[in-house]
Amino acid sequence: MTEATVEHVDILIVGAGPVGLTLHLALATGGQQSLLLDRQRDSVVPGDLRRGAASPLGVLAAAQNDPRALALSQGTRQLLEQIGAWPKRAATPIETIHISQKDGFGLTLIDRNDYALPALGYVIRYRDLAAALTARLAADTIIAGAEILTLTTDDDGVEVTLRQDGAVRRLKTRLLVHAEGTPDDEPAVQVSDYAQHAVICEVTPNPGHAQRAWERFTPDGPLALLPLGGEFSVVFTLPPTKADSVMAMDDAAFTAALQRQFGRRMTFSKPGPRRRFPLALRLRKTLVKGHEVWIGNTAQTLHPVSGQGFNLGIRDAWQLAEALLSEGISPASLARYAASRQLDRRGSAFFTDRIVRTFSNDFAPLKLARGLGLLALDLCPPARHFVAKRMIWGARAWP
Ligand SMILES: Cc1cc2nc3c(=O)[nH]c(=O)nc-3n(C[C@H](O)[C@H](O)[C@H](O)COP(=O)(O)OP(=O)(O)OC[C@H]3O[C@@H](n4cnc5c(N)ncnc54)[C@H](O)[C@@H]3O)c2cc1C
Repeated sequence: MTEATVEHVDILIVGAGPVGLTLHLALATGGQQSLLLDRQRDSVVPGDLRRGAASPLGVLAAAQNDPRALALSQGTRQLLEQIGAWPKRAATPIETIHISQKDGFGLTLIDRNDYALPALGYVIRYRDLAAALTARLAADTIIAGAEILTLTTDDDGVEVTLRQDGAVRRLKTRLLVHAEGTPDDEPAVQVSDYAQHAVICEVTPNPGHAQRAWERFTPDGPLALLPLGGEFSVVFTLPPTKADSVMAMDDAAFTAALQRQFGRRMTFSKPGPRRRFPLALRLRKTLVKGHEVWIGNTAQTLHPVSGQGFNLGIRDAWQLAEALLSEGISPASLARYAASRQLDRRGSAFFTDRIVRTFSNDFAPLKLARGLGLLALDLCPPARHFVAKRMIWGARAWP
């Protein structure tokens, strides 16, 4: 059997999730070609999402079946606009955020009017975001349904052997970007388990949501309701055994459980399909090694409590694109990239980790302190603005 010839590519991005896709498009906008590779096959996307699409590709099958919704910051919207991938029609603006704790005093309200912004953020289905990004791809820039067999590094780069449709291909790249999403347990990744699972689904609220997002802290974990079209996207965080039973409930029992956790300010009906995600903080110790770099969830996976994950991942993609476009592919540009990401990723991880660990318990003194904290946020605008700005702008709000 003859061996496959080696194909050469400057930058190979492994993982065509929203972070890998953003990097590819940001590089293309600056005139730098790259090749995407994903283990998922692409599949057909409904006509309305594909209208005006330049690419013959569908969205990857896994993305199409993902019922998750993401809260995106103003900063993320601006970056997506710059690469022509802001899915305006699919995005629901958040005008206010209501933060409270179950069975305890103290609440605060963050209002877009205090920041002279059209919205505090936007909610969008993961699949609609993936479709908007995929629609910008040029033909022949993605290898879908590919399984990586080997990775071999030498002085010039990384050689990748892969299998696609039964055929073996060999690629040689000067830079391999890892954007494969949440990593498994491995020594290169520091893991801190939250012993919580997020059960997600969509429900219809009555009365309507009025563009308000709710963040409700409970001893089981945070409950978030994000306005999405006429629905709420629910992130119902629970200890694993309670998540087992919530996943097994019929729709009526599930709606009642959600209602108990949320309270009586509104009622819910018509729950959609449910899916669960185990939650842990995963921080990769090193972002760059030789000719490889890690971005997005594979670099850091956070608890979804304050909706930071993709907002952080897109900043990884953007800063890496900027470094490569201005300084080229070199050890120095990669080292500078890695150093430039530390404050943002560690600050965001610390911020979400503290929120989860402080709020997810029933310890009476902490409950009192939480109530006082929420009251202080409400009565003290500078403290409220500190929290709000991190939600609206992410990294740009750090000192
Ligand atoms: C319940 C929940 C709610 C969330 N809410 C928010 C929110 O409100 N706001 C927010 O900003 N973030 C949120 N996040 C986080 C957000 O979903 C992630 O940060 C984002 O999806 C990361 O994108 P990614 O491209 O890095 O990884 P992924 O979206 O996981 O994509 C990875 C891609 O890599 C591919 N891949 C994996 N392994 C391989 C391999 N070996 N070879 C080839 N391809 C591979 C996969 O098929 C996939 O296409 C939430 C997460 C969860 C779980």
